[in-house]
Formats: sequence, C-alpha cells, structure tokens
Amino acid sequence: GGDSSTNSADSSEGGTAEAADQKLRSNQEDPYVGFALDTLREDRWYRDKDAFEAAVQEQGGQVKTLAANGNQDIQIQQARLLINEGVDVLVVVPTEAEGASEIVSMAHDAGVKVISYDRLIRGADVDHYVSFDNEKVGELQAEAILNQTGEGNVAYVGGAESDNNAVLFREGAMNVLNSRMESGDINLVYDSYTEGWDPETAREDLSSFLNSNDVSLDAVIAANDGTAGGVIEALGNQAGDIPVSGQDAELEAIRRIVEGTQTMTVYKSMEDLAGRAAGIALNMAAGEDIPAETTVENGQGGIPSTLLEPVTVTEENIDETLIESGYLTEEEVYGN
Ligand code: BGC
Repeated sequence: GGDSSTNSADSSEGGTAEAADQKLRSNQEDPYVGFALDTLREDRWYRDKDAFEAAVQEQGGQVKTLAANGNQDIQIQQARLLINEGVDVLVVVPTEAEGASEIVSMAHDAGVKVISYDRLIRGADVDHYVSFDNEKVGELQAEAILNQTGEGNVAYVGGAESDNNAVLFREGAMNVLNSRMESGDINLVYDSYTEGWDPETAREDLSSFLNSNDVSLDAVIAANDGTAGGVIEALGNQAGDIPVSGQDAELEAIRRIVEGTQTMTVYKSMEDLAGRAAGIALNMAAGEDIPAETTVENGQGGIPSTLLEPVTVTEENIDETLIESGYLTEEEVYGN
C-alpha cells in the first residue's frame, strides 16, 4: 500500500483503524486465487482445501474456496462469482470434465487463468493441469489385486464416467488386466462406472448384480475408497475373503486394511498436490511463465501439466507411508 487520498479521514480514528485500512489496501494488491471444488464428500477434499489455502497464504496470496456439491451448474455460478470478485487465477476441480469447459471460456474472457486441479477439464484451453499420474493409479490398483488373485472372476467398480480421472483409472486397470483376460486367467464379469462416485450407488449396483446372477467373485477393483466401502458392504460375509482395491488413503479405508476387508489403497499426497498448485497459481498471478514437465491431451490440445507419483498402500507399508509422514497418527489407524 502506498499513499492514499483517503488517509486523512482515517488518521483521526486512531492507529488501529489506520492499520486495518492499510492492511485492507495492501491485501487488495496481494494475488487473489479462487479455488472451485466439485465436492467435499470424500474426506480428501477437506485436506486439499486446507492444504491449498495454507499454501497460498504462506506464499503471500489470498484465497477463497467454494464447493459445488457435485452440481455442474452450481460450479459454473461459483466460478462466475469468483471471477466477478476479481480473482487473478481460478483453480478448478471440475464436476464434469466436459461441462466445466464453460468455466474456462468465462475466465479467459475476464483475463483470468485457469488451473485444472486433480481432474482435467476437457475440450478447453486450460492453462495448466496439476494432478497425479492417474493411469498409473489404475495400474497400481489392478497390480495389487492380481498379487492376491492370479485368476478367476473380477469385478471393476469405477468412478463417475463424467470425471476424466475415472476413465483414466479404468484404462490403467485394463492395461494390467488385458493380457490375463486374453489368456483366459481372468474373467471380467462386471464392469460399471458409478454415478457421482456415490458409495451407496456402488453398493446397490454390485448387490443387484450378485443377487441376480449365479456368479462368484474372486476380486474387485474399486476405483476409490468410497466405492470400496460400498463394495465391501455388498460382499457381506464374503468381505475379507475377496481382495478389494481403493484410493485416497481415507482413514476409514486404512482401518479396513488393518481389519482385513480392504486390500490396498492409493495415497496421493494432497499436501504435495496443493503445494504445487498454489505455487503455480501465484507464479501465474505474477505473470511468470510456468514450465511444463509434460502435456496431457484434453480434446482441445496438449495441456501443460505437472503429474505427481501415486503410492500403493497395503498393510505392510501403512506405517512408513502414512504415519511416519504425519498424514495419520498411530492412534487413528490402530485405535487404542
Ligand atoms: C479423485 C479421487 C476421488 C474421486 C472422487 C477423483 O477425481 O482423483 O481421489 O476419490 O475423484 O471424489
């Protein structure tokens, strides 16, 4: 904040008001970042929110987060609101890969850059994409399941097809399953996406499949911990005998791994993801060029991208991957 013509009125109100006014003025010059989340349903998104806000603030920026409750229309309204409030950069976890392209054109019309966070916006000129190697996530899930079950009937329980990640997770899993399906060792007896990533839908769909077909399962690849929870309920008293994958390292899932009803999860550090995204957002706000390690095709072109490495978590490495890193405490995981 420099000199201001409104200062004389404030100085008569004493030091505190003056300081507050000066803070307000200097804040207005801070880079301002909008964070548009799809949802806060899965625990992970709270962590993303906290980590992202902390990282932006530590680096001298201001941030406002809005979450759209899984509704693309609401997300578009929220993005408009953030743009109208004057954000310099908009960071978006799209509800729908295609539907969110409207946000990018809206932002660009207002001179605001857009970072696609964790999920890729498709069919739009996104400025940067920060995520994990999501095909690799699917590969890790299928590999861990095949470690337990070399042959037999496998079910694939995917995420929301409108989420580009869900498509990549499935592709990765199929990369690993394909040769075993061709040799006849593995039968893919069930293969379904789950609308809205809803655990209850995952449970209902798999239950009705099991009830109306005379088929036994030898393994289930569930795309995340939420759907894994639904799957494990659907398995009923077979839970624990049938390997089930997951993703997100949610506390509930880690407890199921300890208890033996879930085989694995995939840890994607939200702190790393949020830290990278915040750094890129602030550099963009400062008008700097953002180096891209790679590009990812989104139907509109190759989007400059930063992709982090996902990590498999099984019972064997919970301590070294999650507890030693401070992500969860020993008490949370193992109880008393
Ligand atoms: C994320 C997962 C998450 C899922 C449901 C995906 O795009 O990558 O970590 O579990 O959305 O929110």
